[in-house]
Amino acid sequence: MIILTNNILTIEQLKKHFVTRQGIVKAVDGISFSVKEGETFGLVGESGSGKSTVAYTVIGMYKPTKGKVLYRGKNISQESKKRSQALKKEIRIVFQDPGTSLNPARSIRQILELPLKIHNLSRNHKDIVNKIEELLKMVQLPVDYIYKYPLMIGGGEKQMVAIARALATNPSFVLLDEPTSALDVSVQAKIINMLIQFQKKFNLSYLFITHDLSLMRNVASRVAIMYLGKICEIAPASEFFKNPLHPYTQMLLSSISVISDEEEALKPKKIISKGEIPSPVNVPPGCSFHLRCPNKMDICSREDPVMVEVSKGHTVRCHLYTNTHV
Ligand code: SF4
Repeated sequence: MIILTNNILTIEQLKKHFVTRQGIVKAVDGISFSVKEGETFGLVGESGSGKSTVAYTVIGMYKPTKGKVLYRGKNISQESKKRSQALKKEIRIVFQDPGTSLNPARSIRQILELPLKIHNLSRNHKDIVNKIEELLKMVQLPVDYIYKYPLMIGGGEKQMVAIARALATNPSFVLLDEPTSALDVSVQAKIINMLIQFQKKFNLSYLFITHDLSLMRNVASRVAIMYLGKICEIAPASEFFKNPLHPYTQMLLSSISVISDEEEALKPKKIISKGEIPSPVNVPPGCSFHLRCPNKMDICSREDPVMVEVSKGHTVRCHLYTNTHV
């Protein structure tokens, strides 16, 4: 059954567990959120939080252990290995490291013509060359790069080729999996600006996965924070940076760099992080953040809090905001 909604992507109670020699890794453990048409939804977390597992489950590389992935209201979670070409054309991904996501043995032309051929988007040889040249111009690369190989160009240029490859099929939804974290700061800004422009021009919806919370301030319309496979807090970006509620969000925000006094004034008081993120094989009972939390209460090591909505669109998973404590 197709449910009509302005959410382009909806994740419902998604779980992805892996069985390993050390035990069961609950990489994603019951998360829910949605991405609206034309928005950028930022999914932020430290390494090991499970954010990339979410991305790989959305594009069909992993089949969910439980829960649903709905695209335009249609459940696509079971279409992992056998995804239709139409869906593969609609949902694209830009990976973190273009050095490994682009095949070094293929020329830029071969890399960019592949999606055009797979999805029957070009009529003949001349049409393919024209389209590849258009894609290169779109990402501000010279058209003679068509003859180059990935090893002959810089890291930022490789990522521009990867973005051109993702957009070659005219998608509606693009997963951006840490698209700038492997790049120099100067190139990062250029790529981010480019992504913002493409979003407006082509009405793209982005799920932007990153460990860099500061990046989300000017890019995301809504932000979610992940910790050990669960979402701690979701809020519109404007509210999120002004009024962070979850102690983990406050800890992350208190340690980001800012460029203006106004931004500094908005930061929560510096919170010193206690310890490291625990192993996902050995998630602590109760609230998984309790071993590091400066606000820990007795209940926190016993009961896992549920998500509660504290204001419109602002939800948080913490006992500080549940009925028993407000
Ligand atoms: Fe801290 Fe308790 Fe809230 Fe977890 S539930 S974040 S331990 S106050």
